[in-house]
Parts: sequence; structure tokens; C-alpha cells
Amino acid sequence: MQRVIDEDLEMYSKYLTRHRNCIVCGGEVNDIWARYGSYTAVSCQECGFIWINPFLSNKGLDKYYHDYIGMRFKDKVKTDQRAIQYKIDKTFLQLFALSGRVLDVGCSGGFFLSALGESFERFGVDIDAEAVKYARENCPFGANVTCEALENSKYADGSFDVIIMRGVIEHLPDPEKTVEKAAALLKNGGIFFIAATPDVNSFCADLYREKWNQFHPVRHLTYFSLRTLSRFLKRWGLDYVAHQHPYLETPYADVERDYAAVREACVAKAAGRFDEIGRSRAFWGNMINSVFRKTE
Ligand SMILES: [Zn+2]
Repeated sequence: MQRVIDEDLEMYSKYLTRHRNCIVCGGEVNDIWARYGSYTAVSCQECGFIWINPFLSNKGLDKYYHDYIGMRFKDKVKTDQRAIQYKIDKTFLQLFALSGRVLDVGCSGGFFLSALGESFERFGVDIDAEAVKYARENCPFGANVTCEALENSKYADGSFDVIIMRGVIEHLPDPEKTVEKAAALLKNGGIFFIAATPDVNSFCADLYREKWNQFHPVRHLTYFSLRTLSRFLKRWGLDYVAHQHPYLETPYADVERDYAAVREACVAKAAGRFDEIGRSRAFWGNMINSVFRKTE
């Protein structure tokens, strides 16, 4: 197998145990969308939702995150890039909410909440104890950051104006449970901001498949498009409001190199030489920010 992901994921594949039907429509008939080593991504024939199936047990996910997560959130270069991205995401959110009680689900070290500023009353949850410790010690709202799964949090129903999942929903082993809780915690009319999430209905996702830079069969368990995400969230009364696909303005865009890489990939695929192509780069449409509103 060609290693296009810079980690040895085979060591976790012995934890591949959890099968499930489509969480968007309940469909049971799937096509293979991509393969990477022991991992398979499938596409629902009914609604087009894509997910890793089977995926890792909780024990496997615990092991993977124990091995990796602590070192991720302190990476200086990535943190600086994210700071720019945070401003883009914040600017979009501010079209829909300028203040109020906000809960960031999967808030890590509190970086996006910090970027949001004092006009919001800020709360966060994360399951990474080290990241939560960092937030509690370094953020002015640190006392409002707790280490727990959202489903176990003690907040009152209807107590938030805004709930954010930034780069989070694709990681969740049970998005139904988490979204159900998030919807309950939102006020009627409240904003649900799903930010910095891969869009599988993008040119590069389809062209590159398992070589798409957002494809990671351990970290990214689900691959939504705007259509499947909207259908999924509708079940809890969360209605689509708006979306954007940030690219040119992001710190990840390098237009000439990105275009050249896509051109090379297209030529190689047409010539049956796609095995020579490496992992994809940043490109139009890869990432999506989307806003939903809770309606009665
Ligand atoms: Zn489906």
C-alpha cells in the first residue's frame, strides 16, 4: 500500500469493529467510495452520505487520540495558520450572531472562543484533558471550559444562543447523540455553526478520494456534503441558513501550486497513472462553513 497519510494507521486497524447503516437516511445499501489499507469509505446509494465503515471501536479511538492529540494543539505553525482561519470563520459567524451565550463543542485550548472576543459569553467542552487544562489556565473564560463529552454536560436546555462545532463533526463516533444534545441546548432561533468541516461534494474529494487531504479514516469518520448535512440536521429542527467555502483568503491557499497539483492529478488519472500522485493540497470547495438555525 502506498502511504499517502503520514502516519501508520494499520496499527489501529485491529480495532475496526463498528458497522453501521447510513446515519442520514437509514439506508442499508452502499457503494465503495474509497479504500485505504484496511479501511473502507462507503457511499449511501439512497442519499450519498459517505462514512468509514466499519470504523474504530471506542477503545481504538481512545488509543489513537491518546497517541496523537496532545501534540497537535500546541504546534506553533499550525496554531498561527489557524489564527488567520479563525478570523475568517468568525467574520462569517458574525453575519448571524454578534453576542450572546456561545458554547464551543470540541473547543480544544479555547483558541476559537478567544478569537470570538468578549462580546460573547463563552463556554467550551472538550474530551482532551490536556487541551482543557490549557484553556482553563490561559483563557479569561477558562472557568467555563469543562472536560467532558457534550452528552454528559449539565447545561440547561435552551440555554445557548450559539453552538459551534469547528472541525469537530467529522471526528464524532456518534454524531446523532452529540447533535441531539446540541440542538436541545440551543434556544429557539439559536444559531448552530458547523465550521471548518470537509465538504465531500468538492472537486478534489471526488478526484482524489483516499488521497484527498481531508480523507483520514481514523480521525475523520464521516464525510458530509451540504446536502447530507442539511438533511441530517433537519431531524432536530435545525434549518439551513447559509454557507461559504473559504479558500483564496485562507493561510492554506497557494494558488499556483494548488492549481498545478490538480492539473497534474487530472492528467495522471486520465492516463491511468493515479498511483503516482501524492496527497491533495488546499483547493476550492474542500472546506465548508455552514450556519443552521433552530426552529420550533
Ligand atoms: Zn443515506
